[in-house]
Amino acid sequence: MNDAPLSDAERKMQFLYALRSKGVTDARVLSAMESVDRGPFITGLFAARAYEDMPLPIACGQTISQPSVVGLMTQALEVSPRDKVLEIGTGSGYQAAILSKLARRVYTIDRHRRLVREARVIFDEMGLTNITTLAADGSHGLPQQAPFDRIIVTAAAEDPPGPLLAQLKEGGIMVLPVGQSDTVQHLIRVRKTADGLEYDEMRAVRFVPLLEGLGKEA
Ligand code: SAH
Repeated sequence: MNDAPLSDAERKMQFLYALRSKGVTDARVLSAMESVDRGPFITGLFAARAYEDMPLPIACGQTISQPSVVGLMTQALEVSPRDKVLEIGTGSGYQAAILSKLARRVYTIDRHRRLVREARVIFDEMGLTNITTLAADGSHGLPQQAPFDRIIVTAAAEDPPGPLLAQLKEGGIMVLPVGQSDTVQHLIRVRKTADGLEYDEMRAVRFVPLLEGLGKEA
């Protein structure tokens, strides 16, 4: 063994291996994650750690999620190519970029204008033309584009926000972390059927809280 830095190909293999070993096995999800470079979504001090399976700090005191959690949430969402997807919590834009490879259109909302602006620049550079970005309080959803086939929330609420459940199509799936912030939260998957809502609990996670209103800009 030596400590020579990994080549790009080795780093990519290690990244995909970490995803698989944590349960991300869906071929479409893996290939979407292989095709979106996480590097551009992380700037500054932590840029060198972009290919490690860990959450990292981004601007506005927020966090880019751990790649394996992004993979598991994306997999649980069962996105198909005709789907219209809503994401609450753009953050770095990484999750939205992956969804854009799997869905027809992605609407992504963050309460921090700066994050939305910076993510938009990366989407444009990557040629991801099917993503619509918005700066707003996403807990109200996006009524003018509802209903959605899939909804993903990447910030934790105590309960699934009512407006988001209302904006989910029948047959639709929503994946989100629920629980009190700073304690244990769980990822849950909600399916909307003709008979009502079905809930599945997935693994324990830790996300930043879903907050009200627009963020105060520095
Ligand atoms: N999906 C992101 C990680 C998101 S971190 C990624 O791939 O990088 C959670 C994000 O949720 C933060 O950017 C935070 O600003 C945002 N957020 C919290 N409450 C919100 C709300 N009510 N509406 C919209 N965004 C919100």
